[in-house]
Amino acid sequence: MREADAIVVGGGLHGCSAALQLALRGRRVIVLERRHVGRHASGINAGGVRRLGRDLAEVPLSVQGMPYWHRIRELVGDDCGFTACGHVKVAESAQELETLEKRARTVRGLGFDHEEVIDAAEVRRLVPALAPHCVGAMVVRDDGAADPFRTTLAFGTRAREAGAAIEEGEAVVGIERQAGSWLVIGTRGRYRAPVVVNAAGAWAGRLAALVGDVFPMRTRASMMIVTERMPPFVLPVIGAVGRALSFKQSPSGTVIIGGGQQGRADLDQEQGWVDVTNLAKSAGAAAALFPRMRRARIVRSWCGIEAEMPDRLPVIDFSPGAPGFIHVFGFSGHGFQLGPICGVAVADLATRGTTDLPIASFAARRFAVAEAA
Ligand SMILES: Cc1cc2nc3c(=O)[nH]c(=O)nc-3n(C[C@H](O)[C@H](O)[C@H](O)COP(=O)(O)OP(=O)(O)OC[C@H]3O[C@@H](n4cnc5c(N)ncnc54)[C@H](O)[C@@H]3O)c2cc1C
Repeated sequence: MREADAIVVGGGLHGCSAALQLALRGRRVIVLERRHVGRHASGINAGGVRRLGRDLAEVPLSVQGMPYWHRIRELVGDDCGFTACGHVKVAESAQELETLEKRARTVRGLGFDHEEVIDAAEVRRLVPALAPHCVGAMVVRDDGAADPFRTTLAFGTRAREAGAAIEEGEAVVGIERQAGSWLVIGTRGRYRAPVVVNAAGAWAGRLAALVGDVFPMRTRASMMIVTERMPPFVLPVIGAVGRALSFKQSPSGTVIIGGGQQGRADLDQEQGWVDVTNLAKSAGAAAALFPRMRRARIVRSWCGIEAEMPDRLPVIDFSPGAPGFIHVFGFSGHGFQLGPICGVAVADLATRGTTDLPIASFAARRFAVAEAA
C-alpha cells in the first residue's frame, strides 16, 4: 500500500498539471496513468491555445490562464513549442462579420478586450493567402499554439522533478472509502490518500461512477489531418464563423487541420477511428479558405477521444457526494489552453478546499449528479 496526500487518475495535461501544482506546494502526489503520459487527447490535439470565441462562461478562466502560456518555460522548463502566433476567426459574409461584432461587444461588456474585429484589408495583411471573398475577421493577437505531446510531457517531467510519482501502465479499477480516506485499487498496486483527482478524460464518467457520481456525458472523437510540407504561407491559427475549422501551419511546413469533425470512438478499446466522409468536410473547409490547399497532399489523419458535457463546459469541482474527490474533466474539445490554470484550481481545491479562480460555472451539481453510493 502506498500512501500519498493526493492521487491523480489520468496522465493527460490536466492530471500532470494538477500533480505539478500539488507537488510545488509540497504535497505527496501519485499520478496513475493506464497507458503513458500524453497517450490520449492531451498528446494528440490541435495544440490551439485560444481565448478567441470561448463560451462566455469560460472567458474569465481562459483569460487568467493565458499568462501561464506566455511564461510556460518558467513553469515547466521547456517552451512546449508555444508561439504567440495569434488566432483569426474569418467572416465570409457581412452577416458573419456582424455576428463577430456583436460577440466582441458582448465580451467587452463583460470587461474583456482581447477580441478585436478587423476589416478585409487588415485580415488580408495578416493572412495574405486567404481566399479573396473573406470580408473581415475577429483576432486575438497574442493567442497561440503549442506542441501538445511536448507540452504534456513537459508538465509530467516537471511534476516528477518537483516530487510527484507518475505510475504509467497503472489502470485504476476500483475506489473504496475506508476510515476517512480513499483506497484506490490499480491493476498493479493499491494506494491510499485523502484526496483523489479525477482527470481521466473521456473515461472520467466511469471513474466518477465508482464513487457514485453519474454525469450525463458523451464521447467526442475529433479528427485531425496533417499535410505534406508546404512553403510557409500562414502564421496565425485560422478558424471560421461558418465552418468547423482549425487551420495552422507548423514550423516544419506541414499544415494541421482540425475543427471538430467527428470520427468514431470506443471507450472499451480506448480507440478512435477516422470517418473519411467527415474528414473530407475538414479538407473542403480548408480548401475553401485557402485555394492553394486544393493541391495539398494529406499524409496522415487521426482521431482523439474525449468527454463532452451537455453544455460543452467542463466539470471542475468537488464531488457532491464523495468527500475529497475532485473532478476535472469534460473539456468538450477545448481543454488544452485551460490545462496550466486548471492545475492551479485543482491544487487550490485540494489544499485549501476552495479557490479564488472563476470556476463557479463548472460546478458538478449543475447536472444534478445522481449520488448512487
Ligand atoms: C483531435 C483533438 C483536437 C483538439 N484540439 C484542441 C485545441 O486545439 N485546443 C484546445 O484547447 N483543446 C483541444 N482539444 C481538447 C483537449 O485536447 C482536451 O480537452 C484535453 O487534452 C483534455 O485533457 P485531459 O488531461 O483531461 O484528458 P486526456 O489527455 O484524455 O487524459 C486522460 C488520461 O486518463 C487516463 N485514464 C483514463 N481512465 C483511467 C483509469 N481508469 N486509470 C488510469 N488512467 C486512466 C487515460 O489513459 C488518459 O491518458 C482537442 C482534442 C482532440 C481530441
